[in-house]
Amino acid sequence: MYLAAKIFQRIKSLLALINFSHLSALNVKPLLENKGRFYPNYFDHHPNEPTKDKFAISYHQKYGEGVVAKMFFRKGELLFRFHGTLLDYQTLYTLQKKQGLYIEDPYFMGKILHRCDPNTTVDMEEQVFWASKDIRPGDLITMDYESTEDKLFRSFQCECESHNCRKLISGKGTHS
Ligand SMILES: [Zn+2]
Repeated sequence: MYLAAKIFQRIKSLLALINFSHLSALNVKPLLENKGRFYPNYFDHHPNEPTKDKFAISYHQKYGEGVVAKMFFRKGELLFRFHGTLLDYQTLYTLQKKQGLYIEDPYFMGKILHRCDPNTTVDMEEQVFWASKDIRPGDLITMDYESTEDKLFRSFQCECESHNCRKLISGKGTHS
């Protein structure tokens, strides 16, 4: 469907080129804009959204899909602002904004893996990830799921091997 939309866009642009050649630069430009984005073209561009020059999606045999840094980030630096769809239920790709309200981003944020000693902090109001440690190229970008989720969509046995690993990760509201 996505490819069909792209082809349709291209045909539209070519027709526009024939009819209004003076506008050709304007019409062709949107075709190039997806370069480097993780989000599809129908998502508006936002400042600080994650881009492929800074991050990559990697596949790890034990952990599955994850996000890896492609450059150095200093502790305290803004990593990216993510986007998604607001939902009143959880999926594998949501984080909790507040009680009963979730944001789903299957393209990027939803692929970030959990660590009990992560290298980011998350601001769910601003939808921003900050580096809480220096991050080097090749490092996994990680977060603490229990910093945002009252109850996880799927609880799991953590094997992150950090000194403070909590083992059963089920949500911040589940440990009392
Ligand atoms: Zn752990």
